[in-house]
Amino acid sequence: MANETLDLEQLIGWDGLLQEDEKQVRASVRRIVKDRFMPRIVADYEAGKFALELVPELAKLGLLGANLEGYGCAGMGSLAYGIACHELEMCDSGLRSFVSVQTSLAMFAIHTFGSEAQKQRWLPEMAAGRVLGCFGLTEPNHGSDPAGMETHAERDGAGWVLSGRKLWITNAQVAHVAIVWARTKEGIRGFIVERDMPGYAAEEIPHKLSMRASVTGGLVMDGVRVPEENRLPEAAGLKAPLACLNNARFGVAWGVLGAARACLEIAIKYACERTQFGVPIAAKQLVQLELADIATEVVKASLLSVHYARLKEAGKLHPAQTSLLKRNNCRIALEAARRSRAVLGGNGIAGDFHIMRHAANLESTFTYEGTDQIHTLSIGRALTGSAAF
Ligand SMILES: Cc1cc2nc3c(=O)[nH]c(=O)nc-3n(C[C@H](O)[C@H](O)[C@H](O)COP(=O)(O)OP(=O)(O)OC[C@H]3O[C@@H](n4cnc5c(N)ncnc54)[C@H](O)[C@@H]3O)c2cc1C
Repeated sequence: MANETLDLEQLIGWDGLLQEDEKQVRASVRRIVKDRFMPRIVADYEAGKFALELVPELAKLGLLGANLEGYGCAGMGSLAYGIACHELEMCDSGLRSFVSVQTSLAMFAIHTFGSEAQKQRWLPEMAAGRVLGCFGLTEPNHGSDPAGMETHAERDGAGWVLSGRKLWITNAQVAHVAIVWARTKEGIRGFIVERDMPGYAAEEIPHKLSMRASVTGGLVMDGVRVPEENRLPEAAGLKAPLACLNNARFGVAWGVLGAARACLEIAIKYACERTQFGVPIAAKQLVQLELADIATEVVKASLLSVHYARLKEAGKLHPAQTSLLKRNNCRIALEAARRSRAVLGGNGIAGDFHIMRHAANLESTFTYEGTDQIHTLSIGRALTGSAAF
């Protein structure tokens, strides 16, 4: 009799951890990913293309602004949103990045720091996927230390004039609105810049070797006139964009586990089918060591993610905990991709086996939304009270 097998979901014990609505989110996102995104991801990645025409289908599932309340948003709990990110990233980190930026950066910024009129104007359209957003904080000379930003806004009559550059901005070239952070005489402020405002342009970053199925670009603001009603009235200082990033990191942490899981599942299937020295390589102890190590880390990270999601839902998740989760999960996902790739030998670098694509994407997740090193320092500061940035 064959030995009983357990898949990763059984090892985690997912079903006992999820509530009914969370299982429904998992099932519906899994279905759309399998039917609509997986069949085209290898070609899209190679072509450097994001599946823009499928955005309405993401919107229909309530994934845009998923965890926000009101204004046409689905109002999902943190865990349901995390599960959605996990399922999306089973396909590709770029797909999850699109949803993360629309939801947790652009829409969250308007939802948290916007006026009632701004919320009414933009959020329902963004939830429906008719208006796409991006979030411009990083600049060519200021990444980990955005306090030094050079983009600036000067008051001009009833409005503002914005000038500067942003770089490495997800969704830049497809966004109808950009949340742009700029230095003013009163401190850092956030602006909703509309793409048809004269002086504003989005530029592609060429020759990208990671996140190829995601749109990434630069923003150029050359004396863009922005009316006062497009300034986010509740955003004062750097803590506003940092609050958005803290929120978005949670989705990154959940998403990367989806990529890790995809890699592990592919490696297990391959190991069971690939024969060398007369037996499936899955029967070799060194191969089982790889699989067992990866599975153990993914299970541990998944359980931590569930615990922190419940804390977030209770409003008790500290930013240092989010840093810890993002850092840990990105590390283990990247390691899972590298070790899974090796299990596939030469086939590990072939596009049709997906793992190399995940590995390349996960290099970006290691860096964006706060680098691994910056989160290390955030945890260190929380432990010691001493900031070592
Ligand atoms: C695919 C992709 C999408 C992105 N999307 C967005 C987006 O939508 N919006 C946005 O605003 N930004 C976005 N970013 C930018 C991203 O957030 C930055 O790349 C990141 O914050 C790091 O900044 P940097 O690239 O300027 O690196 P730097 O800050 O120059 O860091 C370079 C290296 O130095 C290390 N370092 C820096 N300071 C310290 C320190 N004090 N101690 C120890 N080590 C340190 C870093 O950890 C890193 O290893 C994206 C990036 C990528 C790759």
